[in-house]
Amino acid sequence: MVENERNAKLLSIIVPCYNEEMGLRLFHGALKDQFDRIREKGYDYEVIYVDDGSRDRSLERILEFVDSDRNTKFISFSRNFGKESAMLAGLEAATGDCAVILDADLQHPPSLIPRMLEKYEEGYEQVIARRSRKGEPWKSAFFARMYYKLTDKLIDVKLVDGAGDFRLLDRKVIDAVLSMKETNRFSKGLFSWVGFRQTYIEYENRKRFASQSHWSFRRLLGYGVDGVVSFNVQPLRMCVYLGGILLILSILYLIYLFVRILIYGIDVPGYFTTITLISVLGGVQLVSLGIIGEYVGRIYAEVKKRPLYIVERTNVNDSEPRVRCS
Ligand code: UDP
Ligand code: MG
Repeated sequence: MVENERNAKLLSIIVPCYNEEMGLRLFHGALKDQFDRIREKGYDYEVIYVDDGSRDRSLERILEFVDSDRNTKFISFSRNFGKESAMLAGLEAATGDCAVILDADLQHPPSLIPRMLEKYEEGYEQVIARRSRKGEPWKSAFFARMYYKLTDKLIDVKLVDGAGDFRLLDRKVIDAVLSMKETNRFSKGLFSWVGFRQTYIEYENRKRFASQSHWSFRRLLGYGVDGVVSFNVQPLRMCVYLGGILLILSILYLIYLFVRILIYGIDVPGYFTTITLISVLGGVQLVSLGIIGEYVGRIYAEVKKRPLYIVERTNVNDSEPRVRCS
């Protein structure tokens, strides 16, 4: 536990890092610039760097910060488990009255933290930094907008465009999120699902400081599917609707064919119609199977109850190696 000044509240700052050695020093510098302002607001701080199995020298950098600042903790995973696991580990290790999660690539400006604290003091339990999409390539902005439109219809929780994981969470929210033990985590949805009073502050979108984003199109797509499937069985229902509509259409078509045969007699065997039917039905079946597969896969992952991450080294609660079971 960090030595608390009397009455000062504690803010935990959680930073998931994966191959960020290029920008980490700059990031830590920018974060340090905020420490005084955070103290002025009446808060102590602890920083928790979660090294998500980086293959570069990120951990070395983090250990430098740990050596120079006793309020800095670190957790290092045995391999790359993904940002969701890294955030979870950070939230579990956090001892603060509230926590801020921010990316290590300076896309989430640390200078926003004092403003978040101000909002927190006003009584909001979640202060969500909302990124404007100004200056973003039109393609990603377009797909993001479409995704949010779609998810808004499909799932029960509200996802807001530009509102990501960069947010301040009250202890109540942290405990509520941690009480959800699911393996396929979609934190944005979980944060929204738990509720509590929420407010937004806008910030300007900026480019990644160094190296590339870790989100390939495939990874983003998987994340998008997780977002929809983790929250309800709407896609399953859509399968049923789709199947039903197609069944009705096929029956109508059969009746039409039957009447045609009655009136005109059998014409040339319909190669075209056969192929069309096979391909349409085959497509629908594959789509439906795929959607069912999504759920089955998740059920499989949930029943296995594997740990969501494995810690190789940490200075949180000494440096004992530790395995977290969900
Ligand atoms: N990150 C992580 N594990 C991963 C991928 C990313 O901890 O497997 C971290 C990364 O170091 C960064 C944050 O998550 O601090 C956001 O990653 P990135 O910048 O690649 O995502 P984007 O900003 O494109 O959404
Ligand atoms: Mg980024």
